[in-house]
Amino acid sequence: MLKNIILMGPPGAGKGTQAKKLVTGFNLIHISTGDMFRDAIKAGTELGKLAQSYIERGDLVPDEVTIGIVKERLAQDDCAKGFLLDGFPRTIPQAEALSELSKEIKRPIDVVINIDCDKDELIRRISGRRVCKSCGAPYHVETMRPKVEGVCDLCGGELMQRKDDNKDALEVRLSHYVHDTKPLLDYYANLGLLKTYDGAMGSEKLFDELTKLIKGE
Ligand code: ADP
Ligand code: ZN
Repeated sequence: MLKNIILMGPPGAGKGTQAKKLVTGFNLIHISTGDMFRDAIKAGTELGKLAQSYIERGDLVPDEVTIGIVKERLAQDDCAKGFLLDGFPRTIPQAEALSELSKEIKRPIDVVINIDCDKDELIRRISGRRVCKSCGAPYHVETMRPKVEGVCDLCGGELMQRKDDNKDALEVRLSHYVHDTKPLLDYYANLGLLKTYDGAMGSEKLFDELTKLIKGE
């Protein structure tokens, strides 16, 4: 079984949805830098205050900050059972720092899963996206509706729209994806770790495919 996993893809490709199912199915530690920043903002910590303006504009949080929080988390004992990095790395310096760290702590990356998706579909998905205020579970006003309007199926929390899921911030996020994150695809392809999947195939089917990959079937 593959156990140390990076999940990549543009905003809206379905990373969050797959990540939640995979960490449950395979008992992996979920390391989502986006969730860590949003939790810090909610809690009003120094990290949250620093990250907030970047996130709301759609910009990337500076590398040294992001690398710092991942280093701290990844070195903890529970990550020995396997981890899923969701939304990290997003820049070449982050990928290089991760390569160094994973060597140092002897937790090598087994695979990099890239979920691909075209721009029109990303825009459609993100503009209709809703997330649970309490647990972060994702929904969509047309394609992934909760059983009860405005209420999370999983925890009963209230659904809301993320502040960076608006047109302007989304344009900024997509351009960071193209300029900063896409170069990582070559970086990981050269290391022989990259597996690309079509995010348009539907989340059930994609989950089946990823399950097979991780099990080594
Ligand atoms: P999405 O993939 O939908 O854009 P995320 O929840 O992964 O959403 O990230 C939300 C925001 O958090 C990003 O737009 C960025 O501002 C910040 N962020 C998350 N991960 C990173 C990272 N690895 N490096 C820099 N900023 C990050
Ligand atoms: Zn919830």
